[in-house]
Amino acid sequence: MAKAKIGIYWAAACGGCDCALLEVNEQILDVVAAADILLWPCAADPKYSDLRDYKNGEIDIVLFNGAIRTQENVELAQLIRTKTKYLVAFGSCAQSGGVIGLANQSSRNEIFSTVFGDQANWPQLDTNKNGHDLHLPEFLPRLTHLADVVEVDYVVPGCPPPKQVVSALFSALVAGELPATGTVFASSKNLCEECSREREQLKITQILRPHENDPDTEKCLLDQGFMCMGPATRGGCLAVCPAANMPCTGCAGPTAAIRDQGAAMLNTVASLIGTGEEGEDQLAAEDAILAQFDDIVGTFYRFGAATSIFKERYHERNATAR
Ligand code: SF4
Ligand code: SF4
Repeated sequence: MAKAKIGIYWAAACGGCDCALLEVNEQILDVVAAADILLWPCAADPKYSDLRDYKNGEIDIVLFNGAIRTQENVELAQLIRTKTKYLVAFGSCAQSGGVIGLANQSSRNEIFSTVFGDQANWPQLDTNKNGHDLHLPEFLPRLTHLADVVEVDYVVPGCPPPKQVVSALFSALVAGELPATGTVFASSKNLCEECSREREQLKITQILRPHENDPDTEKCLLDQGFMCMGPATRGGCLAVCPAANMPCTGCAGPTAAIRDQGAAMLNTVASLIGTGEEGEDQLAAEDAILAQFDDIVGTFYRFGAATSIFKERYHERNATAR
């Protein structure tokens, strides 16, 4: 059987997704035996011309990690799309914008002021330094995810994707048995379904952070007041964070049945506080609990702010504050 041709690409990424590919340990040897890696900027030093020189559809599959933050990210995503048969949104940044999608709460000017200070220090798109022309890619007004700029065939969730999920993708690749396009390589059920902790859906009376109290190791973290995103998050990682006494932060995104992960989790929290009856007592109880969160968006939309149902609000704000 001819070897498959694969590519791995990073856009606006931290490098964690590239490292996660090696967490499958010796299975990587099966991948190398079954496939030639044509593109992997993290490990080699390809040039744009290398990618442009491939025929359209010549690469069998590309694992694309990272969000779309710059015009270069858009152009490379479009170029890769023409060169590959199957495109995988690998990791939460490619899937939903990821943790850097939280930047969409600020305008581009606010971000540049924070990072570069005085406007005189902001980077220019075109400059000439020491006789050399320098062109930087445009920093887009808002960050987005891969599916916003090109068609995506598969999704591998997680920040970074966990070993079991990466292994399932590699097994399908090595066997030459990729599933139907549209497949998400993870569980279709929520994380609570694979968590060993006993959940009683107890009323929440206070919000705790892991450093503020030692969680009981067998009871549900949410029942104890630790903000575990398990009810609104897709399983597949075998609940590795709750098993280590850490609440789930929601990196795998929402289950297939949930449109907006943060809204679903807020709904869950609302059902676990106060009287449960409509009226002022319930509203007061909700306000008291919500006041205990330092960062509502960062808690409930840590990985999906860029693709949430609120994203247009960020978009509008950014468009008027550039
Ligand atoms: S999904 Fe997580 S590990 Fe992967 S590039 Fe984004 S921040 Fe890094
Ligand atoms: S600890 Fe988290 S994942 Fe486990 S049952 Fe409770 S809410 Fe669900």
